[in-house]
Amino acid sequence: MNPAYPILNAAFLGAASVLFFGCDLSHRSTTVEESTELPSQSETSSKSRPNVIFIFSDDHSYEAVSAYGGRLSQVAPTPNLDRIAQEGIRFDNCFVTNALCGPSRAVIQTGKHSHLNGFMENEHRFDGSQQTFPKLLQKGGYQTAVIGKWHLGTDPQGYDFWKVLPGQGTYYAPDFRTPDGLVEGTPGEYVTEAVVTQSIEWLEKERDQSKPFMLMVQHKAPHRFWLPPVHLLDEYVSKDYPEPENLFDDYGGRGTPAQTQDMTLRVTMDLALDNKMVPFRQDRMNEAQKRKWNEVYDGIRADVLKERPQGDDLVRWKYQRYMADYLACIKSLDESVGTMLEYLDESGLAENTVVIYASDQGFFLGEHGWFDKRFMYEESLRTPLLVRWPGVAKAGSVNKRMVSNLDFAQTFLDLAGLEQPSDMQGKSLKPLFEGEEPSDWRESVYYHYYCFPEYHAVRRHDGARNSRYKLMHFYDLDEWELYDLEKDPGEMQSVHADPAYAEALTHMKGELTKLRKQYEVPAPPALREGETLFPPWREFGTFEIGLPDEGWTSLFDGKSLDGWRRPFASKSGDPVSQVSEPTGIEVVNGEIHLSPSPQVFYLHTLDFSDFILELEAFMPGKDFDSGIGFRCVLPKGKQLPDGYQSEISDVRSGGIYDIGVGWMNPIDEETKINEFVDRTGTFFKPMAWNQIRVACEGSRIRTWINGQLCSDFEDDKHKHGTIGLQHHAKEGVYRFRNLRIREI
Ligand code: CA
Repeated sequence: MNPAYPILNAAFLGAASVLFFGCDLSHRSTTVEESTELPSQSETSSKSRPNVIFIFSDDHSYEAVSAYGGRLSQVAPTPNLDRIAQEGIRFDNCFVTNALCGPSRAVIQTGKHSHLNGFMENEHRFDGSQQTFPKLLQKGGYQTAVIGKWHLGTDPQGYDFWKVLPGQGTYYAPDFRTPDGLVEGTPGEYVTEAVVTQSIEWLEKERDQSKPFMLMVQHKAPHRFWLPPVHLLDEYVSKDYPEPENLFDDYGGRGTPAQTQDMTLRVTMDLALDNKMVPFRQDRMNEAQKRKWNEVYDGIRADVLKERPQGDDLVRWKYQRYMADYLACIKSLDESVGTMLEYLDESGLAENTVVIYASDQGFFLGEHGWFDKRFMYEESLRTPLLVRWPGVAKAGSVNKRMVSNLDFAQTFLDLAGLEQPSDMQGKSLKPLFEGEEPSDWRESVYYHYYCFPEYHAVRRHDGARNSRYKLMHFYDLDEWELYDLEKDPGEMQSVHADPAYAEALTHMKGELTKLRKQYEVPAPPALREGETLFPPWREFGTFEIGLPDEGWTSLFDGKSLDGWRRPFASKSGDPVSQVSEPTGIEVVNGEIHLSPSPQVFYLHTLDFSDFILELEAFMPGKDFDSGIGFRCVLPKGKQLPDGYQSEISDVRSGGIYDIGVGWMNPIDEETKINEFVDRTGTFFKPMAWNQIRVACEGSRIRTWINGQLCSDFEDDKHKHGTIGLQHHAKEGVYRFRNLRIREI
């Protein structure tokens, strides 16, 4: 379903490569040797072929590493990460090429920009058959392992050992994928700790001790929804976190993209999911963990529901909640880094192991009023990078060269004394680790973000950043932004139209053109057609959600099935709550759960004609067949209502079905179905909560999934009726919550 986008195959060239290896470290500033040969086994002495441990996190802002000295460094210190910096190098200008989880990982595997490695968006699947650094390391005699978050869809290739989280993974009792199948999560385990425990286990027991190794320790934390381990809850919820200066940014100094994104704390940050103000599913926690969570969060909920902060107060409150959860996840990550460093000390591995810490990109921690990433703005573009190489990297040094996740693959190969393929697009950082001051280092980096329309509604853009300026081009809108990072580090005022910056603008446009050419950037794929970006759902970020509020009627109070009826109910058609035999519908953790037996519509009693309906739905991974009925009327003596249904299924989610009659949108015609699926096929996410909205106004019927319009349809066959929930498959529990309706 993704647009076809050719992977350009740059020729694999080896002859022109310059190899750096076997340096005499005592003279390293002057004696980097050139050779055209691969190192022989006898040359693989420990210093020239060190082990590498790459500790990699997800969405870790440099603001949340105290070694960088940002506003959070006092309140949320990271002593173990700081130790890497103190004993090694802190890189202050490490940038990513595409600030999104999967694409960043694909860049690291290949040393190539997204448009060449083919993984431009999180929904893509990584083509593991292409050249990657672990395959080359293996060939060069290294043992390779990856443990933790992978997020590239396909199985890891080039690794002697892999044990990775399925998809995003879970914070509690995480399952792991292995070549031998799924290993189910252990109750009581926390993902960050599990990843490090298993990494140490591999180092201790499973690796081939005769070979140097490359181990990737890849954390899920601190990815959304920021679920910390219980031992840190009390401490982190009780702190007071300094706000960024631009928490209340009005986006006045920037263009359309900053003004129309959907990633604000004010609107987008969801009180239920992000701020945990609705009790959520805890089935991966053990009893002790549940108890602690409920103790802490029930208290917060009770307090805030009394106060119901609004407006700026609510933004401030969300910021504090967000930082408590996020920074507690970071604290746990920092503890796990400490565990690894201690292990390296005790095992004697420390001396000959390069430890590298980085994140897949940065993250907004309230800057510009935002969370998430995606934009080329500094908080998202920049990632922490800390490197310790005992005896080589100068302890406590700071490096301000412009480096990138594009460089990691070549760095790993170079550390191993192996050739760097000439079609890789980065630069080895090894000379920088060794304290060299290369005269030919890059002066700018290239960035390209591709996902629109998508979650958070960040427009597609590319750009160039040098040490002084950042140029961004939102090419679908042909809008430019230019920032003077020296005078305006917070990027509050674009100066692209300021005559005083005409020269800088020309220079940066030239730089961008040069980079596009250098990196072989083709024209971007066509913008997905037919998709309409739905404006942010203001209500989802406020205390209106799930709570009584004027204008909205809740169809489910989170506790009982009052108001719901089962057409199949025995003889009487009693309300579900009065039916004693199994009904296939029950309330679990504030959700409605539908079971497959019996397959049926459950109807609500309230009748509406013109309305907006909103709810959230969670479906199993595959083979689900569900739907939201509306304007449903149950004919006398019948079990199936007449009415419309907004489909939730593997292929036609957001389509409209005339219950008991047939498809209305798309009609049952192969080309129509294909067109519909091409456009909407990725909107509904299985195994995740999806926001569903249905609006009926006269004959106009519209449906949205996760803010994206699926159907916009005229029909007036069914004029009014009730809301229904359907289970129409053989397996799986279907979950619904936050059902509410507003007459219009
Ligand atoms: Ca990420």
